[in-house]
Amino acid sequence: MEPHSWCEISRGALEHNVKQLRRVVGSRCMLAPVVKANGYGHGITLAAAAFLSAGADWLCVNDLAEANLLRRAGLGCPIYVLGWVAPWEMEEVCGLGVRIVVYDSDAVVAAAAAGRSHNRSIPLHIKVETGNHRQGLPPNDALALARLVNDLEGVYLEGITTHFADIEDTTDHTYATKQLTIFEDFIAQCSHAGLSPSIRHCSNSAATILWPNTYFDMVRTGIASYGMWPSKETLLSAVLADRHGMQLRPALAWKARIAQVKTVPKGSFIGYGRTYQATHDSRIAVITCGYYDGYDRRLSNLAYVLVNGVRAPVRGRICMNLMMVDTTDVDSSDVSLRAGEVTLLGDSAGERISAEQMAEWIGTINYEVVARINERLPRREVM
Ligand SMILES: *Cc1c(COP(=O)(O)O)cnc(C)c1O
Repeated sequence: MEPHSWCEISRGALEHNVKQLRRVVGSRCMLAPVVKANGYGHGITLAAAAFLSAGADWLCVNDLAEANLLRRAGLGCPIYVLGWVAPWEMEEVCGLGVRIVVYDSDAVVAAAAAGRSHNRSIPLHIKVETGNHRQGLPPNDALALARLVNDLEGVYLEGITTHFADIEDTTDHTYATKQLTIFEDFIAQCSHAGLSPSIRHCSNSAATILWPNTYFDMVRTGIASYGMWPSKETLLSAVLADRHGMQLRPALAWKARIAQVKTVPKGSFIGYGRTYQATHDSRIAVITCGYYDGYDRRLSNLAYVLVNGVRAPVRGRICMNLMMVDTTDVDSSDVSLRAGEVTLLGDSAGERISAEQMAEWIGTINYEVVARINERLPRREVM
């Protein structure tokens, strides 16, 4: 069966990005690319294999279902679970041989029980609250939890961690610096208490690009591993800090096909709600992708697609499985059922639609654009 819409993922680009990140963090800091959200939409197993072959040490996932996919794909690498693990999932944690983040005693006690029953010791990472107010415990409570982990059989304190709240949205890094100070204080408190977890980590892509003093023992790089900058502000900060030697290569192209080509006379309406009326006789192509596939409906009458490098504007509303584009100005030999593909995102004959461009059209960020491409669409690996 021919897919009607699919993604082409450049393995070379994924490997290149991880090597760039390795270059900045050096050989002593572990590199743990994040493959949650289906590898930021790139295909989780494909991305994982590329990152590992480029020298990644660990992989980060959101949950046990993702960890399970990686194990079933035959990957035996260390896996760190960033997201929530329920107390009743600890048997699976043992079975999958993953490390998890904890921030309450219920999880710790449940993990210890599962560890003991398997004659194992589960590696735990305690998350300290430094100002994001998502996961994590204030330093004093985190210290108490660290002591509990230390006292229980069946678990051990492998890591401590935190996460920045305000690093990619601004060029003012005062808040992030405060978070870092709280994290450093917590590390000192742990060591005072005789606790010395071997893996301290807090750095995401933006911190990895901008601040060597956030590396500690490991960095968790998501978006940059896929060749995208965390934000314009991060790019600007990198340029200002003279750390713009970082060359990232976007790895994803999103394609679809032409289902029909038709001439639409001037004055005709196109699509649901008649939101577009042709201002001239138009050659309209019907494209095999819609909002079910992840092509946001807010792109209606706003985006364009590339047909052999030429921009064809979206006309009318995006439908569930289809959309219409105006190909009047595209070479007619490129506009047929047999002509092949159109590019919704990525490069085509010297032109590019970036995830950042699409994010701006929709009013979101590049992360969401790629992460929301329907998992059902095939991801084809290309060089
Ligand atoms: C998703 C995530 C990351 C990766 O963030 P990027 O900005 O994509 O590098 C790192 N750490 C945690 C806890 C995350 O949830």
